[in-house]
Amino acid sequence: MLSVLVPTPVYARIGSVLCYSSTLALPAGTLVRVPLGARETLGVVWDADAQQVRGELDADKIKPITSVLDGLAPLNVAWQQLVAFTARYYQRSLGEVALAALPPQLRELSTAQIQRRLQRGKAQGDAAGDAAGLPQEQPPELPQLSPEQAQVVAQIQAHAGPFLLFGATGSGKTEVYLRSAQAVLAQDAQAQVLVMVPEINLTPQLEQRFRQRFAPLWGADAVVSLHSGMTNPQRLASWLAAHSGQARIVLGTRMAVLASIPHLRLIVVDEEHDPSYKGSEGARYSARDLAVYRGHLEGAKVVLGSATPALESWYHSRPAAEGGRYLRLHMPSRVGASAADGVNGLPVVRRVDMNHQPRHAVFSVPLLAAIKERIARGEQSMVFLNRRGYAPVLHCADCGWKSACPHCSVFRVFHKIDRTLRCHHCGFTEPVPRACPTCGNPDIAPQGRGTERLEEHLAELLLDVRRPEGELVRIARIDADTTRHKGALQSQLAAVHAGEVDVLVGTQMIAKGHDFRRVTLVAAVNPDDALFASDFRAPERLFSLLMQAAGRSGRDAGQVAGSEVWIQSSQPAHPVYDALKRYDYPGFAARQLHERQQASLPPFSAQALVRAEARSQEVAQLFLNAASAAAQTEMAQWPGWPEVLAHITLYPSVPMNIQRVANIERAQMLVESASRTALQHFLSGWQAILHATSQSPAAKGLIRWAVDVDPLAI
Ligand code: ADP
Ligand code: ZN
Ligand code: ZN
Repeated sequence: MLSVLVPTPVYARIGSVLCYSSTLALPAGTLVRVPLGARETLGVVWDADAQQVRGELDADKIKPITSVLDGLAPLNVAWQQLVAFTARYYQRSLGEVALAALPPQLRELSTAQIQRRLQRGKAQGDAAGDAAGLPQEQPPELPQLSPEQAQVVAQIQAHAGPFLLFGATGSGKTEVYLRSAQAVLAQDAQAQVLVMVPEINLTPQLEQRFRQRFAPLWGADAVVSLHSGMTNPQRLASWLAAHSGQARIVLGTRMAVLASIPHLRLIVVDEEHDPSYKGSEGARYSARDLAVYRGHLEGAKVVLGSATPALESWYHSRPAAEGGRYLRLHMPSRVGASAADGVNGLPVVRRVDMNHQPRHAVFSVPLLAAIKERIARGEQSMVFLNRRGYAPVLHCADCGWKSACPHCSVFRVFHKIDRTLRCHHCGFTEPVPRACPTCGNPDIAPQGRGTERLEEHLAELLLDVRRPEGELVRIARIDADTTRHKGALQSQLAAVHAGEVDVLVGTQMIAKGHDFRRVTLVAAVNPDDALFASDFRAPERLFSLLMQAAGRSGRDAGQVAGSEVWIQSSQPAHPVYDALKRYDYPGFAARQLHERQQASLPPFSAQALVRAEARSQEVAQLFLNAASAAAQTEMAQWPGWPEVLAHITLYPSVPMNIQRVANIERAQMLVESASRTALQHFLSGWQAILHATSQSPAAKGLIRWAVDVDPLAI
């Protein structure tokens, strides 16, 4: 008898490990098709020689598997262990994690169809291999490494890791990744490398650099991408190439961390601090943390890279003598920068005290002058505001009406371009009313400012300004609204690169990763919000965003000298901005870590959240409180568990920050412990109690619940 993983979520009645019979001896990791209820589904053989898992089932009720996906090697033991760890650590079912890690088409296509894809991939690979043998493409000439790069590359060679590569923007981290990959691939003809980036938008850029470097050496098919922006057939092809060992380099977003890569020898996590490595639905795993675990499991080196590491990673890379687990590598200087170019070749930071500017000024006088100067010189500026739309709310001054969303506990955002009010949470969209819906006042006005309004305002301010050749100023905007259509972002970026834009206005989208060569001024017009946010990670995110934005300025070595970063703030002396001015991440991190230690926050404690959704807030909270109470009473009876409970703090349930979305009420409960092991232990036991509570009368009306381990937003 076999046990087989099937795709059922953790809260489903049946387990996700089911028993089937087979006339063939199938090793664990074999992909099979099995009947599940009335359907047929993809499954992964888990235990090749299982004892009966579901005791209530008679032996003669055990169904045979339908078929085996021939031609696909079984998923290896390391992959199985990775899935098992992920499910255990993140409190999900084995089947859910395993099946979500496989490309969707593997579920949909017949065995024969998959066979054909596999053949096609092989044929292409062989053809490419032949072509690679021809001396048509010269291996590219490698740039001379900077002394910092050379030292870091040597350290990665010499040590086991994991490594935290703390490298300034523009210090040439990608070149370090390329060299390290090359060393690993050259050493072992089967070796494979996984390189992860936080965003789909950043993969084409990276793919190009890796392809240029490695296609001449190992053929065009040696590099594949894996991310959710690809079509299902593309994803299947990449996955098959990685699984068969044909792809030597897999580039991808967070999902790639669970791909089958049987000869994995190196994992790179670029921009490791980026919150998008942590999932926001399904198994909310942290791809960065799993990468470290996977490296350990498979004997692959792990390199985490960032200019502003996550505070957790920074803490883990403290000296080994103090308990650090990662080896910290440092590249402080921009490639090609000279000592004359500010701090390590980074642009000068200027802070504007908005208390001394005209009230309600959006652009301070000196910032506007600096932008005009750039335009006159034919240079580009980037203005950055983390809020899209025209105005975050419409407001009636007579009766106090505001453009609340009827379905969510947020305001709908005013978009002037099509005169709509749009909810950014449930999508509910209506035309702007002609007059106030409550009192009829025709004079309803926008309050606050988003990128759309900023762009409009800036255009007015720059109306009299001319470019060097006497033409009008050209302003462009990049945010989620202007890049909705496929290819829109690419063409807008191309316009910026071509110098067709003088001022680029945008959200954090423009702060990330893009290599703008002609930008010599970056301005954050209103970054203060994050200083007062309730989320203890807000300052960390703000600092890293501003550092990244700063990295956009003066990318061309020749321009660094005149490059500037402007921060408009009503608290310009705030420690966050002070550290930014000096590009002092270590100072910032030390201060933040000290505060977190005082408050027993991560990384000095471990957290989990249970979130519940229901038609009413009361029900959502009742469920959480009942599950909490049950944990205390029931676990106290289990031998050995009172000691576990003693290390756990269960907080009262509270409404989530955005309490209602699409008419569903949301509540959460925080669980905290000084010991990660104790928290894990507790959660594993609590799972059954949560499940039972969700079925009890106390939870009538509950829609769903989920555990989020190591949550990023609380
Ligand atoms: P990071 O990822 O650290 O921000 P990049 O790897 O993108 O930095 O490097 C910044 C720029 O410097 C890129 O244009 C890259 O091609 C260039 N570069 C990197 N290393 C070298 C080198 N050793 N010699 C010359 N140019 C380099
Ligand atoms: Zn009104
Ligand atoms: Zn809404």
